Amino acid sequence: MVKKDDSYVLEYLCDTLNNNVLLSILAIEFMKLLNSTEFKYLKKCDNHKCSLYFIDTSKNHSRRWCSMDICGNRAKVNKFSKRQKDIK
Ligand SMILES: [Zn+2]
Repeated sequence: MVKKDDSYVLEYLCDTLNNNVLLSILAIEFMKLLNSTEFKYLKKCDNHKCSLYFIDTSKNHSRRWCSMDICGNRAKVNKFSKRQKDIK
């Protein structure tokens, strides 16, 4: 952390000779996320077979899946199939 004017700014140097550059970048980006106002909207996908996380930027923050096209659609299809079986 480096003091600039009245606040502190994170500065870092990437050692390109180090094999862990990608890991360093991920750690820095995660640290930025932890310090952001969006962190409180970090959610895990509702699909228990999915390991993805996402920032819920929906209006009422009620998003449940990482992707409506993949996990959301599967959940709806499963729910529909279960309902059809229950009717029969
Ligand atoms: Zn998912």
